[in-house]
Amino acid sequence: MKTRLVFLGPPGAGKGTQALLIAGKYSFSRIATGDILREAITRETALGRRAKDFMDNGALVPDDIVNEILREKIESTGNGYIIDGYPRTIPQADFLSGVASVDMAVYFDAPEDILVQRIVNRRVCPKCNAVYNTSENPPKTSGKCDRDGSDLVHRSDDVEEITRERIKTFWQKTAPLVDYYFRRGLLAKVSAGRTLEEVTAEIEQAINSS
Ligand code: AMP
Repeated sequence: MKTRLVFLGPPGAGKGTQALLIAGKYSFSRIATGDILREAITRETALGRRAKDFMDNGALVPDDIVNEILREKIESTGNGYIIDGYPRTIPQADFLSGVASVDMAVYFDAPEDILVQRIVNRRVCPKCNAVYNTSENPPKTSGKCDRDGSDLVHRSDDVEEITRERIKTFWQKTAPLVDYYFRRGLLAKVSAGRTLEEVTAEIEQAINSS
């Protein structure tokens, strides 16, 4: 069974949703660099101040900043983990291979036209990072997290203009990692345009395949 995973894919492909589900089911840790950065911005730490402008504009935060975040997190993590939203550049992938093992990189392949739609309808829980979608995966009570009842928020970068920029950034900087992991025999591609349950089943099949 593969227990050390990275999730790759454009914004809106469903990485965060599936990372929470799969991590919960298999008791893996989940490391999401985007969540860590957002928390730093909320707490107005030095890290948050360095990251904010990049994130507000749909650009990537510089490699040295996210690499340090990753190194710290991975050191305190046990055997199974899902790294969600990292690596996002070839230098980050090279850094990761020096500090941790990867058994499989899951590439969320989704048709471009659904990404923007999914993102603008996305709502997240600021407390537990659960992800909802007002049309595909709504919370049981409108505007409230199913898990802890917190008020859901619409991320400030989940607006159409910035989302289009983030998708562009994905194709320029992150898409080369699909080939990077394919060449290393570590790539699993899932059809991320399907239903939440179908995508979960596809990932589980890949985790359990030899
Ligand atoms: P996410 O929550 O994964 O959608 O990430 C939100 C934003 O955080 C991205 O648009 C980037 O600005 C920043 N970010 C998250 N992870 C990384 C990373 N691995 N490298 C660079 N920037 C990142």
